[in-house]
Amino acid sequence: LVRAVNVHKSFGSNEVLKGVDLDVYPGEAVVLLGPSGSGKTTFLRLINQMETLTGGRIWVNGELIGYEERDGRLYQRKDSDIARQRSHIGMVFQRFNLFPHKTAFENITEGQLVVTKKSKKAAAERAWDLLGQVGLTDKADAYPSQLSGGQQQRIAIARALAMDPELMLFDEPTSALDPELVGEVLQVMKTLAGEGVTMIVVTHEMGFAREVADRVYFMDGGVVVESGSPEDVLVNPQADRTRAFLSRVR
Ligand code: ATP
Repeated sequence: LVRAVNVHKSFGSNEVLKGVDLDVYPGEAVVLLGPSGSGKTTFLRLINQMETLTGGRIWVNGELIGYEERDGRLYQRKDSDIARQRSHIGMVFQRFNLFPHKTAFENITEGQLVVTKKSKKAAAERAWDLLGQVGLTDKADAYPSQLSGGQQQRIAIARALAMDPELMLFDEPTSALDPELVGEVLQVMKTLAGEGVTMIVVTHEMGFAREVADRVYFMDGGVVVESGSPEDVLVNPQADRTRAFLSRVR
């Protein structure tokens, strides 16, 4: 579903990604691990076209993102085309960025009404389904400020799912949460993975990586140092850099 080949990204003279290759197959949960500053967030933002590539290519569902290829040449895509591509990708951020002046329910219906132009009735039905799925039916009318961080993050997940994404990107979704709230969010993500939602998750939660990931990528210094099953990468890492990282986060 996702193929990244030789992805490079620089901010000025700072080369953050130095040739990253990554594949995600439909239904897979892939976890990206790595020290702070290794480029994990930047990589997710490239997939979602919140940043533009400085080299390499990324395909999502067979379509080159950001550019289209005609007669062997690359052309920048139109904004409307980029918006369409982005609408198939759901993203959940470290900081719960719900609309503060909308209720949980309205946060989930908003995109459906505005972006996918669903009817009010269809959007509401989907919102109730999703509220049930994340265990927050009783919080439909609550504003973000009335919800805990864990509840806000579960609403943010429901809001992303409401757009029926082909792919979900999670950028350290639990790292801003109080420890006792981490589990409820990971549980929702685990259930989604079990249902076959394709996802790429940047996280430092090793338990989640071990239990849920189909594959783990360890990044450091803008490259993928190693990748494989959770067993390969977390239990029997080959590279010194992976071992050093794991001994720090465990
Ligand atoms: P973290 O776990 O801290 O989020 P990360 O692995 O996700 O780390 P990135 O957030 O991708 O790493 O950042 C990698 C590098 O890119 C950092 O050195 C950061 O300063 C730089 N960087 C990221 N975004 C920008 C930007 N918009 N402009 C300039 N530099 C940036």
